[in-house]
Amino acid sequence: MAEIFLASRNAKKLAEMQRILEAHLPGVRVLGLDDVAPYDEPVEDQPTFEGNALVKARAGLAATGLPSLADDSGLCVDALNQMPGVLSARWSGRPKDDARNNRLLLEQLEDVPDERRGARFRCAVAFCHPGGEATVEGEMAGRVIRQPRGSNGFGYDVVFVPDDQDGDLTSAEMDAVAKDAISHRGRALRTIAPRVAALVG
Ligand code: IMP
Repeated sequence: MAEIFLASRNAKKLAEMQRILEAHLPGVRVLGLDDVAPYDEPVEDQPTFEGNALVKARAGLAATGLPSLADDSGLCVDALNQMPGVLSARWSGRPKDDARNNRLLLEQLEDVPDERRGARFRCAVAFCHPGGEATVEGEMAGRVIRQPRGSNGFGYDVVFVPDDQDGDLTSAEMDAVAKDAISHRGRALRTIAPRVAALVG
């Protein structure tokens, strides 16, 4: 069976990516960091999602020799000049803490009226293989609410209501299938899946 490597430490994000890829890459085994020999993971020091995704996928290919995918993603908030952006994971400092990040974001937006609370999740996915590399991006537009709601997903899902739905659910109140159908990560992975399949499938 063909194998690809998915370079992510974030267990929930990895599960989400494996779930989306399994549906679009039949016959391809998607390995995570726990399935390969440990290696020094690179510092994500690039100013763009695309740059950081490439850093991670190149390191994955170099360490494992397997065609490697990596994503870099974050929440870009209009009223904060598109921050936290690439700093989303550690917006409130180290160690990474989703609940503290959400508290800080809600405090920062406390005085921002409802009509100016627009935001979008963005995701870049990089695919690196011995013959070359490719990157794609996906987005999910919506708004930041005032109180966390829901228990699915991870990160900022509890404070984010996507536009592209009939109801008013946060992405943490949606089930996995509903979130994958409209999410930044779902869109990016579905775009790159045919290229991955053509190479390794
Ligand atoms: P990365 O691992 O450096 O790409 O960090 C991405 C960070 O952005 C995560 O830790 C979350 O805080 C946030 N993020 C990215 N995608 C999502 C999502 O689908 N839901 C909620 N938060 C997300």
